[in-house]
Amino acid sequence: MVVDGDGRERLEVPVRPRKNGKARCSGCGQPSPSYDRLKERLFRYVPLWGIAVVLVYAMRRVDCPRCGVKVEQVPWSTGKSPVTRSLALFLADWAKVLSWQEVGRRFDVGWHRVFESVRFVVEWGLAHRDLSGVTAIGIDEVHFGKGQKYLTVVYQLCGDVRRLLFVIRRNDSAALNAILDEAGDAWCGGITHVCTDMWRAYRKVIEARLPHAMHILDRFHIVKLLNEAVDLVRRQEAAKLRKQGVSILKGMKYVFLKRPENLTEGQEAALKALMEKRWLATVRAWLWKEKFQLFWEYTSPYWARRYLRRWCKGAMRSRLAPLKKFVRTMRAHEDLNMNWFEAQKAYSSGAVEGMNRKINLITRKAYGYRNYEVLKIALFHALGHLPEPQVTHRF
Ligand SMILES: [Zn+2]
Repeated sequence: MVVDGDGRERLEVPVRPRKNGKARCSGCGQPSPSYDRLKERLFRYVPLWGIAVVLVYAMRRVDCPRCGVKVEQVPWSTGKSPVTRSLALFLADWAKVLSWQEVGRRFDVGWHRVFESVRFVVEWGLAHRDLSGVTAIGIDEVHFGKGQKYLTVVYQLCGDVRRLLFVIRRNDSAALNAILDEAGDAWCGGITHVCTDMWRAYRKVIEARLPHAMHILDRFHIVKLLNEAVDLVRRQEAAKLRKQGVSILKGMKYVFLKRPENLTEGQEAALKALMEKRWLATVRAWLWKEKFQLFWEYTSPYWARRYLRRWCKGAMRSRLAPLKKFVRTMRAHEDLNMNWFEAQKAYSSGAVEGMNRKINLITRKAYGYRNYEVLKIALFHALGHLPEPQVTHRF
C-alpha cells in the first residue's frame, strides 16, 4: 500500500515480464529481440473496495526486424493510455447508469478519462458489430446544441433489438448518402421498410438508394405534424387575444398537445371549460385533431383511406390555415401514409416514437455533448447495443 502526496491510499501491483518471454513489437505484434527498458510507468486498474489499484511496469523496447526500435505491446493497455483495458471497461459500464462527470468523480479519474474509456468501448463495438439481417429502419433528423444544428440518425426497427445504427452530422441528402455509402449497397438492398417523415431531401435519396424499400410515413411523424399545426393555431390565436386583453389561452399549450388520458386533473378541468368556447379557433383545431385519432383504429386500409379522405375534406373547410396546410401534406403523401397500414406487421410503430424520445433525451443532456464527436459516442454507448470487448487477459 502506498500513500500519495494527497494522502490517498493506492495499491501498487508490480508487474514483471515472464522469464524468457519475448516482448512483442507494438508495430506488428511479432515477438522481437529486446532493445532496452524504459522507466517504470503506472497503469490504473479497477479499484478494489474503493482503493485505487495501479500496475507498475517498466515497458521494454524491442528491436523489430520489420519496424525498427519500438515500444512493446502489452495486453492490459492500449497505446499510450495510462488506463488499463479492464478499467476502461469498468468505467464505461458505470457510464451507462451514471453521468460521465459522476463516474469521473466517484472513481477519481476525471471526465476526460471516462470519455476516453467510453470511446474505446464504442469504437471496439462499432468495429465488431453485426449489421446483417436488418430489414426495417427508421431515419430521422435530430436537433442538437444551440442554433440550427441537426443530426441524421438511422435506427433498427425490426427484430428483437431497437438500436441506433448510424449517426451523422447535418440533415441533408449528402448526409443520408454518406450513411448509405458506409452501409454498402448489399445492406441497402436488404432493406424492405423505411420509416421517415416526408422531408423531401431524404425522400429522393431513399428512392434512389433503397430500391426494395417501402417508404412509410409513421404514425409518430403524422401525429407530430398535426400537433404542430394545432399548436400554431393556438399561438396565433393567443397572440391575437393578448392584444385584446384576453388571456384564456395562456399556459394552455400542453392541454392541447397531450393525449386526453395523460392530462392532470387541473388540465382536464381547464380543457373542459375551454370546450364551452367553440368560437375559439384553438378548440376547433383540437377537435379536428381528436377526430383524426379514429384513423389509427382502422384495420382495413380501404376503410382507413375512406375515413382519411372524409376527414381531409372536412378539415379543408375549417378556415384554419395551419390545419389546411396539414391536409395538403397528407394529400400529397397519401400513399406513404397508407403504407403504414400495409406494413404494420413488418416493424413496431411504437419503436419509432421510443427511439426518437431516447435520442432526444441523450441529446439534451448537458455534459459537454454540444460537441458533435462526444454526442455521437454517447448516443452509440447508450443506444447502439454494441458488442463489448471481453477482458480475457491472464497475467
Ligand atoms: Zn514490428
